[in-house]
Amino acid sequence: MKQDDQIPYKIYLRENEMPAAWYNVRADMKQKPAPLLNPATHQPMGKEDLSAVFCEELVDQELNETDAYIEIPQEIRNFYKMYRPSPLVRAYCLEEKLQTPAKIYYKFEGNNTSGSHKLNSAIAQAYYAKKQGLKGVTTETGAGQWGTALSMACSYFDLDCKVYMVKVSYEQKPFRREVMRTYGASVTPSPSETTAVGQRILKEHPGTSGSLGCAISEAVEAATSNEGYRYVLGSVLNQVLLHQSIIGLETKRAMDKYNITPDIIIGCAGGGSNLGGLIAPFMGEKLRGEKDYRFIAVEPASCPSFTRGKFAYDFCDTGNICPLAKMYTLGSSFIPSANHAGGLRFHGMSSTLSQLYHDGLMEARAVEQTAVFEAAEQFARIEGILPAPESSHAIRAAIDEAMRCKETGEEKTILFGLTGTGYFDMVAYEKFHNGEMSDYLPTDAELQAGFDALPKFPGCEG
Ligand SMILES: *Cc1c(COP(=O)(O)O)cnc(C)c1O
Repeated sequence: MKQDDQIPYKIYLRENEMPAAWYNVRADMKQKPAPLLNPATHQPMGKEDLSAVFCEELVDQELNETDAYIEIPQEIRNFYKMYRPSPLVRAYCLEEKLQTPAKIYYKFEGNNTSGSHKLNSAIAQAYYAKKQGLKGVTTETGAGQWGTALSMACSYFDLDCKVYMVKVSYEQKPFRREVMRTYGASVTPSPSETTAVGQRILKEHPGTSGSLGCAISEAVEAATSNEGYRYVLGSVLNQVLLHQSIIGLETKRAMDKYNITPDIIIGCAGGGSNLGGLIAPFMGEKLRGEKDYRFIAVEPASCPSFTRGKFAYDFCDTGNICPLAKMYTLGSSFIPSANHAGGLRFHGMSSTLSQLYHDGLMEARAVEQTAVFEAAEQFARIEGILPAPESSHAIRAAIDEAMRCKETGEEKTILFGLTGTGYFDMVAYEKFHNGEMSDYLPTDAELQAGFDALPKFPGCEG
């Protein structure tokens, strides 16, 4: 392995170099993301409307599109110190294996018990709930990473945590569920009989294995019908992208120390929070006209919100009780095909990233899951880390870009977000190893059904 003597294998920041404020990219966007709308009146939701569902300070952050920097409270910074800064790694071994002139870096967010970047926002959301004097919070979880992260954060601040877990994951990922219970959360398979919306969905679709959109509906109902509870969400929202900017800020500071400038920045995109966080300070420079970068969002071909979705107002949940967000969406009724094993199954996308993509500031591409698992395995074997299937979408694109550099001889610097580890995803890996994994692309007709169900009202696409 040839190592550049200027650049260590892992680049760490010292504790006193850690960011003291999150970066709010909306402050530098000329075209701001569209506001959340009240689903009944179609009017923008203000502080009062949103405070019924979300914690007050988080509502302020959600609505704040003017302050570029928002201070990270000391209590949150103390928690961050336990597992941050996360390592920024130069993938020397992968470069050598690929025989590429490209320089590859990844920011690894899997080095905490929850196994992903979600803890960065969970701890912030739990802190503000505690500060407001709430008893607890409710949420949904699909694969389980968000529920795990939130359970950890709630136990740290001694808050109650009610998790609605998509039924199929609840049954297939018992270990994930037990991690949450270890941290004191209560975990309910969704849809359940414990909420009115759950009862309604069970009546309409008996035997359903649930979906993220459905679990969101239940968690929101549980928050609004229990005194002293609020709902928290692990992705999509502006506030979550804000908290995740810690990823990009650390990365940028570490790279600046060694005068490294990435040419291409790649992240997987489910609801958009890790990608939004990783690119935030770099996108800020691009928006202010200081520097240029290529940003690439990578999504599954079986849930292609950016590459085949519509930019329109839509519900974030199946039960259609949440605010409407303007985003790239496949429609809230869209559920990825059952053979899709790789996560990133949300039908919509962060409205901030949707706006940036719409304005041509970011690219997106869709990749098929067998190709994703090939990249995952290649990465595990050469770099040692067993990646989450979600993260492996970014690995796929990073390898593809590095191979392109090999063809052209360009020495590009590629940075990608390695969002987490895949220890709880071995059923998916097993399918891949047994040759039982297939690629399924939704047909145009299937997607059209989702688009037909989008809410229609004056200005819905305007
Ligand atoms: C949740 C999750 C994602 C996708 O969520 P985003 O909000 O798009 O970042 C990606 N990777 C891992 C490991 C996750 O847990």
